[in-house]
Amino acid sequence: MSEENLKSMADLVAHSKHRGFIFQSSEIYGGLGSCWDMGPLGVELKNNIKQSWWKAMTYRDDVDGVDAAILMHPTVWKASGHVDNFTDPLVDCKVCKSRFRADNIDLSAPCSNCGAKDSFTEPRNFNLMFSTQMGPVEDTSAKVYLRPETAQGIFVNFPNVQTTMRRKLPFGIAQIGKAFRNEITPGNFIFRTREFEQMEMQYFIKPGTQAEAMEMWKELRWNWHLENGLRKERLQWKKHEQLAHYADAAFDIEYQFAHGWGEMEGIHSRTDFDLKQHQEYSKKNLNYVDQLDGNKKYLPYVLETSVGCDRCMLAVMSDAYRTEFPGDAEKERVVMRFKPSLAPIKAAIMPLMKKPDLEGPATALLRELQKDFKCEYDTAGSIGKRYRRQDEIGTPACITVDFDTLTDHSVTVRDRDTMVQERVALDKVKSYIKEKFSL
Ligand code: ATP
Repeated sequence: MSEENLKSMADLVAHSKHRGFIFQSSEIYGGLGSCWDMGPLGVELKNNIKQSWWKAMTYRDDVDGVDAAILMHPTVWKASGHVDNFTDPLVDCKVCKSRFRADNIDLSAPCSNCGAKDSFTEPRNFNLMFSTQMGPVEDTSAKVYLRPETAQGIFVNFPNVQTTMRRKLPFGIAQIGKAFRNEITPGNFIFRTREFEQMEMQYFIKPGTQAEAMEMWKELRWNWHLENGLRKERLQWKKHEQLAHYADAAFDIEYQFAHGWGEMEGIHSRTDFDLKQHQEYSKKNLNYVDQLDGNKKYLPYVLETSVGCDRCMLAVMSDAYRTEFPGDAEKERVVMRFKPSLAPIKAAIMPLMKKPDLEGPATALLRELQKDFKCEYDTAGSIGKRYRRQDEIGTPACITVDFDTLTDHSVTVRDRDTMVQERVALDKVKSYIKEKFSL
């Protein structure tokens, strides 16, 4: 049997729509550029990814979680440097009005959209933050921003978390939440959008220990992506040769998407830049008193891990997508080989026929399994067609209730990947699935 990986992003976009993972935002109005809605299966998959991250990052001795507001005091963004520096150089084609990031194209080449020569405007800096008004009066004093990253909600809460949780260095604060960037060139499906979710963690450390913290988090974060089922050969490290002014080391984990290699996660050593800035602008003392080192006072350094939830989801979906060709066209199938704990639906319960005799035990089993997992109940069409649909959404187990069930109190459980079927006693189905798929 031969199999193929995902060939193009267009195939994944079509599959996502067709099977209820991701829809275009406001589709009935023609859509809104680069905004996407999670459908019923997408929201499950994304929640499972978030849960996997939250567990890995906060079910530890040294990391707490927070959930900060999206709207923050406008001075936060002055202090962080976003008001002055969070810009991309932008050029327009004077002929077709297309917009490009000046640092992404060759300005001496013709416009890639319309072919016009020498048609670009001079590059000008474009701030990527969305602003809005707070309160009923529209004046400049009421201007606030939709956060372009979740990190600042962590930095400003450093003293709150440290004191209330009685933390000593090193310790981390983790957060999952929406971020907004008015990207000049969004695209590649959910790779680059204007509204997205980040999963970020700031690890506060003693200055001078950043190299060992970097090693530790590089290893943990790399392994997390592997544990989610991503193939190793599709992951690579990229070391930043040119560092941002606040960083003293920076690495990205890149994934080989259908459109090419792209950043999925950044692991950055940010020194004490952020706390220093907030100390200066807020005029609050953010020093840490190190009781283990003669009550020395200093601003902690920060090691940050920052991963885009949507990019991660795109990688998980791209990696899982296979088309299998067993040689018999009838049996060809698309299968999403999600790691079972990430799969949106864990089990599909299928009475062989729509008959009360079969539906009775089938719905009883459904009710029992639903206490622990997200399940589907499917009575439509032939069993073969129902299997195909579950393969396409990546359901690890399909459970068929047939006429034998009425006498032997067992069901057939079919494995998504091997397609092997096993007979399992009704009262053992839950533990069988839990064990087999580590749920
Ligand atoms: P890029 O170079 O791709 O613009 P970045 O270096 O600006 O990304 P960071 O500011 O480090 O990204 O953000 C951390 C993570 O947030 C990225 O690794 C990515 O996974 C995610 N992310 C950033 N911008 C977007 C976006 N516009 N859409 C979706 N995810 C994003």
